[in-house]
Amino acid sequence: MSSIDPSVSALSVWLALESPTHHTPGVNGMMDLVASEVDGLPIAVERIPGRNGLGDSLILRAGLDTGEPSVAIMSHLDTVHPVGTSAQDLPVRVEGDRLYGPGVYDMKGGAWLALQAFKEVALSATAKRPMVFLFTPDEEIGSPTTRKLIEEIGRASAAVLVTEPARDGGKIVTARKGVGRFEVKLEGRPAHSGSRHADGRSAIREAAHQILAIEAMTDYARGITTSVALMGGGTAANVIPQHAWFSVDLRVASLVDGIEMESRILGLKPHDPDVAIRISGGMNRPPYEKSTAVAGLFETARAIATGIGFDLQDCPMTGGGSDGNFTAALGVPTLDGLGIDGEGAHTLSEYALISSIAPRRALIKGLLESV
Ligand SMILES: [Zn+2]
Repeated sequence: MSSIDPSVSALSVWLALESPTHHTPGVNGMMDLVASEVDGLPIAVERIPGRNGLGDSLILRAGLDTGEPSVAIMSHLDTVHPVGTSAQDLPVRVEGDRLYGPGVYDMKGGAWLALQAFKEVALSATAKRPMVFLFTPDEEIGSPTTRKLIEEIGRASAAVLVTEPARDGGKIVTARKGVGRFEVKLEGRPAHSGSRHADGRSAIREAAHQILAIEAMTDYARGITTSVALMGGGTAANVIPQHAWFSVDLRVASLVDGIEMESRILGLKPHDPDVAIRISGGMNRPPYEKSTAVAGLFETARAIATGIGFDLQDCPMTGGGSDGNFTAALGVPTLDGLGIDGEGAHTLSEYALISSIAPRRALIKGLLESV
């Protein structure tokens, strides 16, 4: 590491500990790093054991315990990069203003800078409300074991700040599409593809019909997209396939569209009556819409940023979901994309901008002190 910037060295320790969602020792190691970092500070630490083979969650609490709603920060410490990525394809390194490393942008950089702000405010006792910081282990797979906890903390909060990455030059997120996931399983009738072709009922052929029907539900004008990006089926090149399956990703801009699309997808009927179709799944993350309360919170953040010396903007509704969807859907004012700036989430060219650390850390501090 050529840089002597203490933020970069400290954050690099987090990057060196690889923590893909299903690698529990790595994810729990990240929770250990956070817990040890606040050791001895006026911050209470609660650790919640992981479930279903996933990592633990960590809750930090600080500030006045007045019983009034808190301000909550939420960060996930899992990444999408398998163990070994930093040794091979994405070494932790500095190039100019760029800090590279697995998960630096999504979202260890944001989690790290928010933790520094949280510690600072806890030490100076300048928070306006009780402060809560939730670190989760499973956001990258849809938060199956932490959704309840996220919603519980969300309900007890006056505002939720999510440290997913900033985008397009530092813009934050005030609206996200809702996400649905479905599994479609088809069962036809097997037959020898040469001698008994007419007896077969191809599950793959039926899947082809269904996939085209589902993809045709995409409606850009309404902000609805459907895609089939995983599929399988068949046993051999000379057997009419008995089984096939595929998965569907759905994105919607509003709650109403989510309900409508869910019933359209779950209600699909087989094209060939001799093939059985089983569809499971539904909406996973509800849409996060820019309500008046969200817009008001954004204006507060914007004023704080102006005081720090930068112009804060929000981006148009983004297609990617986050844990912010859960809290926003409860009606809790939520700001997202408050994390580090950079580029290349989920890719091997992922990097964060070192120059974005200080101003965004100051923004989180300002929010903790004024929201
Ligand atoms: Zn993320």
